[in-house]
Amino acid sequence: MTELTTIIEGINRRIDGIALVRLIDYHVDKIQVSGATLKCFCPIHHELAFRSLIINLKTNTYRCTMKRCPCFQEGLLVELWARHMNLEVLEAGLDLADKLQLDIDIQTLRQLGATFTEKARDALAAEDFDQARALIDQALALQSRNLELRLLSAQIWTAAGRHDRANEEYLALFDAYLEDRSFDAARELLAMLLAEQPDSQLLLERQVELAHHEATRRPEDEAPERGDVVAQRRAADPGCAHAHAHPAPAAHPGADCRPPRRQAPGNHGVTPAW
Ligand SMILES: [Zn+2]
Repeated sequence: MTELTTIIEGINRRIDGIALVRLIDYHVDKIQVSGATLKCFCPIHHELAFRSLIINLKTNTYRCTMKRCPCFQEGLLVELWARHMNLEVLEAGLDLADKLQLDIDIQTLRQLGATFTEKARDALAAEDFDQARALIDQALALQSRNLELRLLSAQIWTAAGRHDRANEEYLALFDAYLEDRSFDAARELLAMLLAEQPDSQLLLERQVELAHHEATRRPEDEAPERGDVVAQRRAADPGCAHAHAHPAPAAHPGADCRPPRRQAPGNHGVTPAW
């Protein structure tokens, strides 16, 4: 993870602390700057009376003076944004690089994510599960909400015999498909899981839930929109030019890539926190 740590520190160094608190936009009228110290109301525990959040504008670190606040321990500014946005730290860094126009080569970082993913697939194929896990975790650090990566992560857990973790990942993936109204993908995934565990109460409950959602299928669910989803999936998996998910536990989608299936509208990048 050294490479990622370096990236995070690089991004953190470039953050303008004042611009960041303005971006957080929590009682900005209370911001007080004195030398290299910025004090403001803490947006994390939603302070209403004291300037408890102290930012060191030189080291680009922060801490909250309230003991009960999760920010009581010092952290990097990029971590403050991660907390505020409920993102992984690296994702928060990329988000900030974009929003604050930081001098960071985002494309290179995205490419790095794609490289991690490809290497994770190779390691999985070579049955080096520890390596595959380490690589997919790094790819996920860049794009934790990418469903394609979550699927690969579940496959790696399965291959490594960690069925408990695989199940967790698959169920989270199923919920994300539902959230995106990707019913075909959800149904396919559920069928695969039920084939392995036909008596699972949890899965049977999900089946009822899916039927309920499908009963409310909207016309726009039939007419897919593509956009960020395609770009995101391509970035995550250059081997596949299609806009669809790969719920089957097959190895590399590039090998048996099927045509795009019906895709739910909306941004697949915005799914619930994992
Ligand atoms: Zn606080």
